[in-house]
Amino acid sequence: MSEAPEHPDWVPPGQGRGQLPPWLLPELDRLLALHDQGRLHHALLLTGRTGLGKRLLAGVLARALLCQGGEEGGQRPCGECRGCRLTGGGAHPDLRTLSPSRGGERGEIVVDSVRGLVDFLHLSAQLSGSRVAVIVPCDRLNRAAANSLLKTLEEPPAGVFLILATGRPGRLPPTVRSRCTVRGLSPPPWGTARQWLIERAAAGAERADKALALAGGMPLAAERILREQGLEGYEALLQQLHRLSAGGDPVKEAETWERAPEALADAVSAILADLLRQRHGAPDRGLLPSTLAQQLIRQASPESLHQTFLRIGEHRRSLEQPLNGRLAAEAILLDLAAALRPVGHSASRQA
Ligand SMILES: [Zn+2]
Repeated sequence: MSEAPEHPDWVPPGQGRGQLPPWLLPELDRLLALHDQGRLHHALLLTGRTGLGKRLLAGVLARALLCQGGEEGGQRPCGECRGCRLTGGGAHPDLRTLSPSRGGERGEIVVDSVRGLVDFLHLSAQLSGSRVAVIVPCDRLNRAAANSLLKTLEEPPAGVFLILATGRPGRLPPTVRSRCTVRGLSPPPWGTARQWLIERAAAGAERADKALALAGGMPLAAERILREQGLEGYEALLQQLHRLSAGGDPVKEAETWERAPEALADAVSAILADLLRQRHGAPDRGLLPSTLAQQLIRQASPESLHQTFLRIGEHRRSLEQPLNGRLAAEAILLDLAAALRPVGHSASRQA
């Protein structure tokens, strides 16, 4: 299985409020209210799981901060003023975006890019009085690049806002993290994500649920799965669940997830959470074929499902630190297999 495209191209410059998913609008308005009160910190770090919309929010917030239009209390970005027309066309002179260069799998944001950004931020604003820099995903700043950003993060010129976003804040140097105000975004409720996905991807409810399951409930990640990969990964995971529940070897199954252990952890977490909900009487949402779901519920005790869910959450968090993807995938599937081990099957391998 190929690595999930966790860092797709930068949000198209024309994105405005209308394209912002409903679960991100309240956070946008909270940040703008802080700005209007003069209380918005100059360096924001947006965190939250991949596929939640951090990048979208960063882009729309940047546009809103450079919006010159609208009456008092009007919605921003207004989409009509000069600032909005320029950000909409990707050509605003007071906005700069840093992302890793495309192509390389381990694309980094390098020191020369940051130096260019710092120089830009020290110029005076050309239009609205603000200058905005967006850095996504900021965990790709290499060490030298991060160091060359510190002074600007600490003492930015007047009117400068830096918006950083990452799904892996643990990979960010503490020196960068500590100079930002962290805004953690939470995933939307399943029903909200599902409705958005059905409308956005023109998907039926069943496909939407499966894609959301594979994406661990993260709607933009689910949309990407439907658009780019289809549900092959989901079908493959189903086959693996069948094999593991019949005593299959988790270490062998882990091979296919070597490059996407985070996706594996997210999908397995979503499936375990759903099995637990069903075990406690909630209706079947159709994440798994009902015969498989019923079999797994019969086979695994609620306690072991719950413990495994918690352990996989720990694996997921540990994935914020750089480590071997293969080992992580093995750890996840060893735990899962232990919970699903068929009755009477001996415990042959332990994590
Ligand atoms: Zn505007």
